[in-house]
Amino acid sequence: MWHLSFTLARAKQRAIVTAQDYIRSYYAATANNQTRYPALEGTVKADVCVIGGGFSGVATALTLAERGRSVVLLEANRIGWGASGRNGGQMIGGISGEETIKRQLGAAGAKLVRDIRYRGHEIIEERVAKYGIACDLAYGWMEVAARPRHMAHMRAYVEGRLKDGDGDQIEVVEADQMTQVLGTHSYYGGYIDRRSGHLHPLNLCRGEAAAAASLGVKIFEDSRVINLSGGAKPWVQTERGRVEAQTVVIGGEIFNRFGQSRLKGMMLPAGSYIIATEPLTGAETATVDPQNLAVADSNVVLDYFRMSADRRMLFGGRCNYTNRDPHDIAAVMRPRMVEVFPQLKDARVEFKWGGTIAIVVNRVPAIGRLSPNLYYLQGYSGHGVNATHIAAEIVSDAICGTTEKFDLFARIKHTQLPLSEQFGNYMLALGMLYYRIRDLM
Ligand SMILES: Cc1cc2nc3c(=O)[nH]c(=O)nc-3n(C[C@H](O)[C@H](O)[C@H](O)COP(=O)(O)OP(=O)(O)OC[C@H]3O[C@@H](n4cnc5c(N)ncnc54)[C@H](O)[C@@H]3O)c2cc1C
Repeated sequence: MWHLSFTLARAKQRAIVTAQDYIRSYYAATANNQTRYPALEGTVKADVCVIGGGFSGVATALTLAERGRSVVLLEANRIGWGASGRNGGQMIGGISGEETIKRQLGAAGAKLVRDIRYRGHEIIEERVAKYGIACDLAYGWMEVAARPRHMAHMRAYVEGRLKDGDGDQIEVVEADQMTQVLGTHSYYGGYIDRRSGHLHPLNLCRGEAAAAASLGVKIFEDSRVINLSGGAKPWVQTERGRVEAQTVVIGGEIFNRFGQSRLKGMMLPAGSYIIATEPLTGAETATVDPQNLAVADSNVVLDYFRMSADRRMLFGGRCNYTNRDPHDIAAVMRPRMVEVFPQLKDARVEFKWGGTIAIVVNRVPAIGRLSPNLYYLQGYSGHGVNATHIAAEIVSDAICGTTEKFDLFARIKHTQLPLSEQFGNYMLALGMLYYRIRDLM
């Protein structure tokens, strides 16, 4: 009897986690193709099994396939279903947690940060060109000062970058020059990074998956991993199938830890939300973002925005750290957009959606190994477009025997919150409320 009720309870639990199609977003509505990959049935073998069909997993699978490895990629829902197919599309130089890396690793950390700053951009550019991925890649990214005092930090940052020899791609914009750059009076200056930019993330992710499939990667959607094992003979179990591989990679912001205690409490989920207006006219666009820059403000709880290729304003932000989505995303986001751009007060909102950002406690992406054949890469704290591609290359290098950068990341000391996830979220919510109040003061 106990066995029966236990089995029924398990069956009920499983019924809740059926695969989901894309949420309604501007990206899903403008996806280039709708290729569906089959669900895994039975047992397959491969050199490497990668879990997660976001940028982390897809970029790892593609890199390994380019190096001749046989790869199986397992995605619970659809390719790019998670943050990778929903984000602001801002391709930002560097990774989160750079100061912690430098503090913990000293000169080696400073060199690492410098060396990898634009590596994700390079990988994306190479793939867009090599595989003909249409993802609206455009250049120009700006961080704007939400408070006058933030400019001092930005000037110092740009000075450091000039010393690094990045002078041809980065420039300070003072407050009195701002109206030449953006059609808003909300900010006190900033800096432009012309090496960074923006793109259609779902089309990039699906394009990279198609490239991986063309190189022989076996991709399975609707294939949620429910258990796995590292060790001498690693395996991965889905509801209806099993993969036996020499190496397993937990590729991405996957909140199921598969019983791996060393991943517990390392990253916490935070909601972030985006609205997309109807397409603006050319004249309207010129009053808002004439240089087609992707923009993020300097608050801890930040706003970010950019124009899509079909001239919609994509305005995002307002992280929610309690793991509860707002009842009406547009009601939260639209007033903020109109505050920054009053000229958009009549622009209709056609899409609204949200996604989950994995915030790592010390902000440094978590890249490491749980056992000799079980790797993970995850937790980009909202800076994942560039960083996922960097992390995927570092993990792929390690699997192929080059461990220099992997070893540096593996040396980073991460904080694991010894709390239940929900309690951890409340702590994070309180912390972010503190920063939000500080941002406003
Ligand atoms: C609203 C929003 C805006 C953002 N804006 C930006 C931005 O402008 N610029 C930027 O650089 N970053 C941004 N980010 C962050 C960035 O999107 C992420 O850091 C990045 O996409 C993470 O990629 P990932 O592959 O690690 O995770 P994900 O893309 O979340 O992929 C994980 C995948 O794993 C799958 N999965 C989960 N559990 C299982 C399982 N048990 N078995 C199999 N598969 C499983 C999921 O379905 C999902 O597809 C934003 C994020 C959000 C949510």
